[in-house]
Amino acid sequence: MVIVEIDERGAQRLIETLKSKGIKDERVLEAFRKVPRHMFVPGGLEHKAYYDSALPIPGGQTISAPSTVATMIQALHLTPRDKVLEVGTGSGFQTALLTRLVAEVYSIERNLTLVNEVMDRLIQSGCGTAHLRAGDGIQGWSEYAPYDAIILSAGTDGIPKQLLEQLNVGGRMVIPLKGCLTLVVKSAQGFRSRELTECRFVPLLPGHSS
Ligand code: SAH
Repeated sequence: MVIVEIDERGAQRLIETLKSKGIKDERVLEAFRKVPRHMFVPGGLEHKAYYDSALPIPGGQTISAPSTVATMIQALHLTPRDKVLEVGTGSGFQTALLTRLVAEVYSIERNLTLVNEVMDRLIQSGCGTAHLRAGDGIQGWSEYAPYDAIILSAGTDGIPKQLLEQLNVGGRMVIPLKGCLTLVVKSAQGFRSRELTECRFVPLLPGHSS
């Protein structure tokens, strides 16, 4: 096994970049300091891990840019007691950050090959564990609902009804909706939504694949 040391200077530069892009939540910044992103990018791309850019991962997918992930997580105002559902596990990098921020992480990925690699990465990178499942995240994960927060990592033109249903009252959801990161908050009266920033994501696809 090739072990690549964390690029300390690169990691510090990345934290400064995140701050310059509006990431102020100290818990979120601390999670980024602790999760070694180079362990979540494909072999050969480790030297690019601490730049603020998306990178290709297997299956034609991408690991999102750090500032995009940080913006999504910060908007959720997570607390250590929260239970979170992530749709689109991908590389597992965002999953790893979430395990450092909340009590329970449930994550669904439609591509089985990607799911199989994530648990090992979480353990090897010293992060907490998450409940992982290969399947269609559009359906959510009803067995463990309701969730205090839901984070979608793939773009869509409509919010899946099941995800709205599986959100707790008082719960928050971040979703790339029609090219714009959107925060949805559920209250006893209904839903409020607010656009955060423009974004580009791979599409949310129905069904699952191997
Ligand atoms: N946060 C991840 C993003 C990965 S890209 C990372 O930074 O690595 C988005 C992921 O969503 C892809 O892995 C894709 O396979 C997955 N995806 C797309 N549609 C899905 C669906 N319906 N259910 C679950 N995962 C889905």
